[in-house]
Amino acid sequence: MKTIISAALTGAWPSKKDNPALPITPREIAKDVFECYEAGASIVHLHMRDDSGQGTMDVRKFKETVELIRKRTDVDILLNLTTSGDLNATDETRQIHLRELRPELASYDCGTMNWMHKTIFLNPPQFLEQLGKTMLDCNVKPEIEIFDAGMVYNALYYLKQGILKAPLHFQFVLGAAGGMAASVDNLVFLRNLIPEGSTWSALGIGKAHLPIMLATLALGGHIRVGLEDNIMFAAGQPAESNAQFVRRAAELIKIAGNEIATPEDAKKILGISR
Ligand code: ZN
Repeated sequence: MKTIISAALTGAWPSKKDNPALPITPREIAKDVFECYEAGASIVHLHMRDDSGQGTMDVRKFKETVELIRKRTDVDILLNLTTSGDLNATDETRQIHLRELRPELASYDCGTMNWMHKTIFLNPPQFLEQLGKTMLDCNVKPEIEIFDAGMVYNALYYLKQGILKAPLHFQFVLGAAGGMAASVDNLVFLRNLIPEGSTWSALGIGKAHLPIMLATLALGGHIRVGLEDNIMFAAGQPAESNAQFVRRAAELIKIAGNEIATPEDAKKILGISR
């Protein structure tokens, strides 16, 4: 099979203090996109930061970054823009960049949760309905992020309502405090809940990064790596770059006897027709 590598470059929470390799500015992010593409990533998942380094949904930052990436016409990597990661965002600012920039994919977080024992990650029903409709209108494929099993059932509800369309694509995010722990049992459990014909990818945060990646390969899923999820490459060894994670994932895919999906392959696998 062909395995998709998604690279999640920045996220909303890590800082340059945690790892100086974290890309923050549009230029830094675009540079990492190109390096990850060279290393075998076919999707990049992007968050923006403001000038002080805080997570922001400022559409101007998204625009500047996406323009830098799309200027390189030799790079056909698929863009997956976040719809969260800014505590001051409104329902509107979480969607406006999708209308303006029409990325191939965007995150669709299928439920509200207590986030890292600190705050609330709000995804109430009226927002999920609006967001689903915006994505349908703009032909943006939802990447349904699952932090907890109940979120799968929410996705099934929205599928029934016509707000999400099959085939669904899931991203299992394991090991975020407030969500499900990063264990192989939990991964298998979640994988068994999703409708037949769906595609899925997974990641483990922190120490569980490699075990979850290996289990995902064994189960036939796709892979997400990057500094959003892990600032350490291995115990006691901070990651040097996002591309370092992509290179290791690419090696493991080959060792598993799979092929690395190109962006064209990823479009076919995910049913993206653009
Ligand atoms: Zn994200």
